[in-house]
Amino acid sequence: MKAVVLDRRGKDGLSVRDFPKPERPRGNALIRVRAAALNHVDLYVRDIGKGITHPMPMVLGVDAAGEVVEADADSGLAIGQRVIAFPSEFCGHCDYCLAGQQPYCRNISIIGEQRHGGYAEYLSMKAHNFVPAPSNLSWHELAALPVGHLTAWRQVFSKHPMVPGETMLIVGIGGGVALASLQLAKLAGARVIVTSSSDEKLERAKKLGADDVINHKRETIWERVREITSGRGADVVCDNVGAATWDQSLRAAGWGGRIMVVGATTGGHPPADLQRIFVRQLQIFGSTTANMEECRRLMQVVAQGRIRPMIDSVYPIDDAPAAFERLERGEQFGKIVLDIP
Ligand SMILES: [Zn+2]
Repeated sequence: MKAVVLDRRGKDGLSVRDFPKPERPRGNALIRVRAAALNHVDLYVRDIGKGITHPMPMVLGVDAAGEVVEADADSGLAIGQRVIAFPSEFCGHCDYCLAGQQPYCRNISIIGEQRHGGYAEYLSMKAHNFVPAPSNLSWHELAALPVGHLTAWRQVFSKHPMVPGETMLIVGIGGGVALASLQLAKLAGARVIVTSSSDEKLERAKKLGADDVINHKRETIWERVREITSGRGADVVCDNVGAATWDQSLRAAGWGGRIMVVGATTGGHPPADLQRIFVRQLQIFGSTTANMEECRRLMQVVAQGRIRPMIDSVYPIDDAPAAFERLERGEQFGKIVLDIP
C-alpha cells in the first residue's frame, strides 16, 4: 500500500513509498483510510522523537478517518461504516482504562508516534479505537477532528469546565488545537480573546467567533487582556506555545485564573514565576487528549452541526512532503489534510 514512511530522523528520512499492508489480528479492525490530517507532533517525531519509543521504519499520522473494510462479527462495527481513529490505542483492561481514563492507559500506543499511523491506505487498530463518525462531515473534515478537538474538549469542558460569561485567552490562533478551543469555548458561552502576529489570521478568527483579537507584534498581550477585561484578566488561558509565551500567559490570567498547558512547541522550561502563581492563586493544568466518553460527546455535537473543523489546505498523499513544509512554516489557519484516494 501507499504510505508516508519515516525511515530515519530528519526531513530526508520521510518519503511516500510502498509499505506492507497491516495485518488484522482478531480483535482489530482494518479501515481503508480516506483522509488524514497533520499535527505539529509529526515534525517532532520526524526530527527529534526524544521520549517517544517506536520502531523505524514507521508510518506517520495521528489523525485519520476512513471506512471499515474488515472487522470481527462481534466488534460492533459494520463493513463500510464511516469511522474516525481514536489515536491512542488503549488496552481496555488496566486500572485507568477501567476507570474510563483511556488517555492514562499504561499500555497505550499512539498511532504515528509509537506505532504505525494513518498516513497510509490502510490502518489496523483494536476495534474499540474506531469511533462511528457522523455523516454530515466530509472525509477531510472528519480527519481534522480527533487530535485538535479532543485536546480542546478536555481543556474546555473536563479539566475545570468553563461556564458562560468566563473569558478565555487563546495564545496563538491558527493551529488545530487553538481553533478547536475557540469553537468549543464559544459553545460554552465564553468570551474569547485570541492572539497572532498575522492580521489576516486575526480577521479570520473574528469571523469564527473570536470576540477580541490582539496582534502581539504591535501590542503586549497581558496589557491588552487587562484593558479588554476592565483590569480583571482572563479566567482561562490556553497556551500550547510554551517558553516563548509563558510569562505573558501568567500575567494575562486574572486572580484565581486557570492556565491550560496543552503543548510547548517553543520549549518546556520557562521561568516559573512561583510568586505570581501562589499570590494570585493561579491554577495550572496539564492537558492532552480526551477519553472515549468525551469523544462520543464530541461526535454528538458534530452530528448536530454545531462544530465544523477548519480546513487550511488539502494535499494528495503523494504531496505529503509539501504538506509538511506548509506545517513547518506555520502559515496554516486550520488543519492541513492529506487526501488518500
Ligand atoms: Zn489500559
